[in-house]
Amino acid sequence: MTMPQNVRTHEDFPIPETMKAWVLGDPGQLTLVDKPVPAPKKAEVLVRIDAVAICATDLEIIAHGPPAMIEGGAPFNKNFTPGHEYMGTVVALGHGVDEYEIGDRVTVEIHAGCGQCKRCRQGMYTSCHNYGKNYGDVDKGHRANGFTTDGGFAEYAINSVNTLIHVADTMSDEEATLVVTAGTSMYGLTELGGLVAGESVVVSGPGPIGLLGAAVAKALGASPVILTGTRDNRLEMGKKLGADHVINVRNEDPVEAVRRLTGGKGVDYVVECSGAPNAVNEAAKMLNRGGKICLAAFPSEAVPVDVAYLVRNNIYVYGIRGEGKSATHRAEAFMREKRFDATLIHTHTFAMEDLPEALRYAKDRVEDAIKVVVRNRFSQEQMKAAE
Ligand SMILES: [Zn+2]
Ligand SMILES: [Zn+2]
Repeated sequence: MTMPQNVRTHEDFPIPETMKAWVLGDPGQLTLVDKPVPAPKKAEVLVRIDAVAICATDLEIIAHGPPAMIEGGAPFNKNFTPGHEYMGTVVALGHGVDEYEIGDRVTVEIHAGCGQCKRCRQGMYTSCHNYGKNYGDVDKGHRANGFTTDGGFAEYAINSVNTLIHVADTMSDEEATLVVTAGTSMYGLTELGGLVAGESVVVSGPGPIGLLGAAVAKALGASPVILTGTRDNRLEMGKKLGADHVINVRNEDPVEAVRRLTGGKGVDYVVECSGAPNAVNEAAKMLNRGGKICLAAFPSEAVPVDVAYLVRNNIYVYGIRGEGKSATHRAEAFMREKRFDATLIHTHTFAMEDLPEALRYAKDRVEDAIKVVVRNRFSQEQMKAAE
């Protein structure tokens, strides 16, 4: 193998010259190709990818492009490998890396900001002002694997040490891929929202971020935690993850139900994960005065919002992009302590060669798929366990 001289490797983890990687051609078109295994630079490691979860954003990128941005534009036909919710094993250390050892099990967060701009300096590296500027004359060193740099639908990937999280031995590979999802919910609630124990939370929309949002809110001591949605089986899962109350919006008016459950007062936070057109207006009416709406989803079209109601009631509205301020480390700590069982949302496992089928399961929610995970090096036992 041909890693540069200042890259440390270990004989227990031999690194081939080339690897299998899925690359995006035209919209919707993925091909499995051979790519050179990349070499880590200063403060970077090479991760051997063991498992990667599929996210709705992957489906968006593969079909339409944004928010991925490669060489300043659309990610198509640029030899780009998507996939961002992966975990694996550190197999090579770039110059100066002593935070991790070869053989460490790690999971990753997506964004290594440029480290220089105002937002990166505030720890808000998912809002880096130099997003995607990592090529040619405008190279600021920004990385967002699976968005602006190569991601996890491959055998190996490069990661900045700032994007790695140690994984407890007691955590399965599949569970470890969910750390970044829980970390995103945590970032919205604590770092951006300022939630403290005893405050009340509604989570609307029981997708992966919503379900783990309810779990994280409960683990943080929020009370009560109320989950709203349209599918009873998802709401039941939310209960197992920590929701105190669930509301099926097909059966009852969610605003009235939240008011009733909170003695007429309303809640301190709404984490909006449904993307429904009227969600902001409904969220506002679920809040008490001075409450906060965290927007983690959005409708596909621009929608009218009752701004006067927000102003008169001192309501804060904030969007959340990804998983800043190392919230993933705190999420992993909760998961390590078994404060909630994130594995409940992992429904299907496929081998990496079967990625297109795995994507179909995720997209069409085949067999009510929630989190679909693809694996490299599928052992026989794991195959059995997945069946
Ligand atoms: Zn994601
Ligand atoms: Zn930056």
